[in-house]
Amino acid sequence: IGKRSNQPITFFSDSMSERAATHVKRVSELVEGLERGELILFGQPQYAPNKTLCGLEILARWQHPEEGILGPAAFIPVAEESGLIVRVERAIIEKTLEYLPAFRKRHPHVRLSVNISAKHFAEPDFVQVLLEMINQSECEASDLILELTESAMVHDIGLVAEKMNSLRSAGCEFSLDDFGTGYSSLSYLRQLPFSEIKIDRSFVMDAPEGGTSADIVEMIVKLGETLKTRVVAEGVENREHVRFFDDRYPNVNLQGYYFAKPEPVGHWLSEPSGFSLA
Ligand code: C2E
Ligand code: CA
Ligand code: CA
Ligand code: CA
Repeated sequence: IGKRSNQPITFFSDSMSERAATHVKRVSELVEGLERGELILFGQPQYAPNKTLCGLEILARWQHPEEGILGPAAFIPVAEESGLIVRVERAIIEKTLEYLPAFRKRHPHVRLSVNISAKHFAEPDFVQVLLEMINQSECEASDLILELTESAMVHDIGLVAEKMNSLRSAGCEFSLDDFGTGYSSLSYLRQLPFSEIKIDRSFVMDAPEGGTSADIVEMIVKLGETLKTRVVAEGVENREHVRFFDDRYPNVNLQGYYFAKPEPVGHWLSEPSGFSLA
């Protein structure tokens, strides 16, 4: 029970043991869910400044037999703690690779972004297994963008760079997700082959009001120019957000509820490739 033996064992309240029981239940349900193929793909589009589709982020959902469609908050943390995240994300990647050919017919030059947990990325065979999955599919490595958060970079940076570089030379791109919310060092970022930085929605949300969030957005856009990466703003919810970027940072790509909510990926096979500002 006590995680560290040199600390006094803390009293386990009812709510804590209930939570632990829920966790154990979720883990075993998730194992079954993986076996039954219950993980499904949602996708949320990204738009270039001319409002044409330029990307689709794959977001995991769990089609739970009793509870309906569950969002990532209900199972990604559980999967990370239990180590199931590797199986979860391999299932997501496999389904993404199966989906891609149909998406390609509709949107020939648009890549799919998938989220990779730091824990999964740290697996010694991450690169090898991913390249094998791509090889066995009809897709190319260059069809994928891997979204990593700063937490993937806290370990042996030499090893992180080595893995990223070998995938980059195979054609995969990397996107730095939720940027500004973690602890990555700028000197490390310079050494890593990122093609894209995503401004976390917590900064985007308040940016039109000015103040610190607007300053941070400014800093990230400048960083993107310095590192020669694309910049994506996430959590673009309303006209003010769109106007903020159109006026000041017209090169930033936009993703958010203002344009589209995440939808089951089938939806994006019939959607037009432009967004009209009605
Ligand atoms: P994220 O990578 O930052 O993904 C964007 C999240 O913001 C999505 O939540 C999306 O629905 C939400 N969002 C998009 N536009 C807006 C907006 O305008 N306003 C607001 N308030 N929210 C917006 P979702 O789908 O619930 O995913 C939450 C997080 O779960 C993701 O955050 C990502 O970190 C994680 N996640 C999803 N799929 C995977 C996966 O396969 N692996 C891992 N490791 N994490 C995943
Ligand atoms: Ca993401
Ligand atoms: Ca994000
Ligand atoms: Ca985020």
